[in-house]
Amino acid sequence: MRIALIKGDGIGPEVINQAVKVLEAVSERFGCGFEYQEVLMGGRAIDETGVPLPAETVDICKKSDAVLLGAVGGPKWDGLAGSLRPEAGLLGIRKALDVFANLRPAVIFPQLKSASTLKEEVLGDGLDIMVVRELTGGAYFGEKKRVDTGHGIKAWDMMVYTSLEIERIARKAFSIAGKRRKKVTIVDKANVLESSRLWREVTGEVSKAYSDVETAYMYVDNAAMQLVRNPGQFDVILTENLFGDILSDEASMLTGSLGMLPSASIGESGVGIFEPIHGSAPDIAGKDIANPLAAILSCGMMLKYGFNMEKEADAVFKAVNSVLDNGYRTVDIMQRGMITVGTEKMGSLVADSMRHNREGMK
Ligand code: NAD
Repeated sequence: MRIALIKGDGIGPEVINQAVKVLEAVSERFGCGFEYQEVLMGGRAIDETGVPLPAETVDICKKSDAVLLGAVGGPKWDGLAGSLRPEAGLLGIRKALDVFANLRPAVIFPQLKSASTLKEEVLGDGLDIMVVRELTGGAYFGEKKRVDTGHGIKAWDMMVYTSLEIERIARKAFSIAGKRRKKVTIVDKANVLESSRLWREVTGEVSKAYSDVETAYMYVDNAAMQLVRNPGQFDVILTENLFGDILSDEASMLTGSLGMLPSASIGESGVGIFEPIHGSAPDIAGKDIANPLAAILSCGMMLKYGFNMEKEADAVFKAVNSVLDNGYRTVDIMQRGMITVGTEKMGSLVADSMRHNREGMK
């Protein structure tokens, strides 16, 4: 498997180096063999080539089997114009690879339950939700306009979806649910929005092919409330771009630990982008204190959703669990009585657990 590495800026290189360490341990244990090619994007690309997404990067990513990304951006590049900012690289690579489905798991590790903003009784047995957000349609990409009406300014952003766009992401969400707790909740605003009514029609059709998966519908205002009231009722949440942007942040923050959350963006082309949800954290860059577990868990998602390597993905998850069980924490998830470790050490502990601690793993 060829993996394009975009280490990026700030803590990006630090956490991706640990992720690669763990991938090497996966390779040793399961004999898979990964090849890496480092490419530039974001601030470093601006410094070295003048643009946030060089053509060579796009070319190499397209020829790879997956892209593993750290994070881009930082104060150094904040003053640049929109299309020259590091974030333009992110949007550009998503578009170039046509990744239309963003998968954001919100999982609470039992060892870190106290980090959640929710009360223990609301969390119940824990939290394990997968938010599937449409990434390339809706209001963010529909026609945008401003006109001066003569009585003030009028502006609009069109929320546009085609049945094909809905169908392809619905199929992804239903097949993911089929491998989990077999429930998809489609979140929309069908009482008001025509595009939401189309979502209901199309997802209703798609659901017929997945008879073992339960389908539920929920209005977005209710979903925002239910996420903090009774999150255990959700398995997979499927929703359009704007609602997904908001709900995926809400769901992930319920876990209380930014440094633990991975994500995947996938399409039909087969080259997915796998990245932690956190940014480049310039405030802690270079100090060996960033939590690399989100990047390591992003490798788990790459193995599962990018390469269909279920048992290898499971081993990554178990290795992280085992290290947490043994009491090791980076400062952002530190709890009383536990052992503080830095970025490098945390990466090595997970890699060692992958190599040596198989039978001891929970
Ligand atoms: P951030 O996620 O970088 O940091 C928010 C806070 O969380 C900071 O206090 C940081 O120290 C902490 N934090 C983040 N990741 C951590 C980790 N792994 N371990 C421990 N602590 C961690 O968000 P921000 O401060 O809003 O943004 C900083 C830069 O990152 C900006 O330039 C922003 O544009 C960029 N950004 C990039 C991406 C991306 O590349 N996908 C995403 C979000 C933000």
